[in-house]
Amino acid sequence: MAGAAQDWLDSLDMDQRLAAVGPPPGTGVVAEAERTRWFYTPPDHGGLTFHRQRPAQHRLVMRLLASGLSEAGYTTVATVLGLENVLDRVEGFSVNWGRERTRDPGMYYLRVFGEPGGPQPWGWRFGGHHVSLNNLVVDGRVVATTPCFLGADPAMSPLLGGATLRPLGTAEDPARELVRSLRPELAARAVLLARAPNDIMAANTTRIGDRMVKRRELWRQGQHTPDRAEEPASGLHGADRQALALQRDLVAAVFADAGWEVPGMLAAMRDEDDVYFDGVSQIHLPRWSSGRVALVGDAAYAPSFLTGQGTSLALVGAYMLAGSLADRDHAAGFAAYERDTRDFVTANQELAGKGGATLFPTTAQELEQRNNRLRSLNSPPPAGGRPAHSVLALPEFMPVT
Ligand SMILES: Cc1cc2nc3c(=O)[nH]c(=O)nc-3n(C[C@H](O)[C@H](O)[C@H](O)COP(=O)(O)OP(=O)(O)OC[C@H]3O[C@@H](n4cnc5c(N)ncnc54)[C@H](O)[C@@H]3O)c2cc1C
Repeated sequence: MAGAAQDWLDSLDMDQRLAAVGPPPGTGVVAEAERTRWFYTPPDHGGLTFHRQRPAQHRLVMRLLASGLSEAGYTTVATVLGLENVLDRVEGFSVNWGRERTRDPGMYYLRVFGEPGGPQPWGWRFGGHHVSLNNLVVDGRVVATTPCFLGADPAMSPLLGGATLRPLGTAEDPARELVRSLRPELAARAVLLARAPNDIMAANTTRIGDRMVKRRELWRQGQHTPDRAEEPASGLHGADRQALALQRDLVAAVFADAGWEVPGMLAAMRDEDDVYFDGVSQIHLPRWSSGRVALVGDAAYAPSFLTGQGTSLALVGAYMLAGSLADRDHAAGFAAYERDTRDFVTANQELAGKGGATLFPTTAQELEQRNNRLRSLNSPPPAGGRPAHSVLALPEFMPVT
């Protein structure tokens, strides 16, 4: 592998090397963030594309790929590269993202990080649409081959003689066969969802999180084209999109006659794909524990944002639960937690009625009063009376030694 990588590097001129070589693994936070960035979609993966190389260099690229893949892996990768032409035909040779060619078997990027075969760790990354290969070499041994991604689009295409090309078919089939082989009662336990979750929820994030990624974030700066820029990349199904459209319609209908800047806001809402729309509700449970499980915070007693007290309840509840458990068994501890905290929670949940009136005034005078109150929030609250949110004096729990 080191020889194949070095042969490729030796074939490059200075201009090509600028794109082809990156700092060795472990160089620093910024360099590592770039090295570990990976994609399976077609934006700039970072590196030298086939387009910027001569045919003899293409061959050296393929030789390096072969050095890190089994024969079957290499054949599958070569097929996925070629599928770009098939996909282009499926799409009527018409998709246009503003680059000279959109579905493009030449738009695969290779970059070598560090010095192949040298004393320090080194690696390489090859990627483009539906291919991402990463290899890390330490002390002359390949220690990581991930992230490794292969996809096929189209998943199935006809071949001469009635055969079907399914580049990843035999890798998928055993999973389907396993699920279909289950008796109904086992299938009911094994199948979590009738509908498969969107398989590109994590989109092009290097690390998996719970944030939906927008398409404009997938492209390196300046590379996205306007027609694709605002389209959400992933995370939304048809039904979700429909629900979003209904939510927007509802908001637009309610505020249709509001005047002022509202028409502009409604128009902006139409273009946003992360509109936050939710009901306001509270959680009231008859008991906060069952067996060895106890709930705190919103799970047990969400007071809603109309009270402004959700975070305090969650923290106070956790404090009271911890203290209650410190010197007794769980059953007695859970009972003490609930006994000593419930009145406080109830008093705070009851703030919701006042909170609604306070936050969403219905007359010009109340609106003025609310705005004045908000403006003076940086000063301490007036003395006197004991507001609901402080009816509980937190006991001093002693640390258990
Ligand atoms: C619009 C809005 C405005 C608000 N304004 C205020 C305010 O001004 N002041 C205030 O005090 N409170 C406010 N709140 C309420 C406050 O945010 C919540 O009451 C508080 O965050 C509750 O804390 P929690 O730890 O109980 O729950 P959460 O903060 O909801 O934490 C629960 C965590 O569990 C994670 N989780 C869920 N399921 C799983 C799973 N299966 N596995 C692993 N992790 C999981 C969730 O991702 C989440 O991170 C507001 C709430 C909203 C929605």
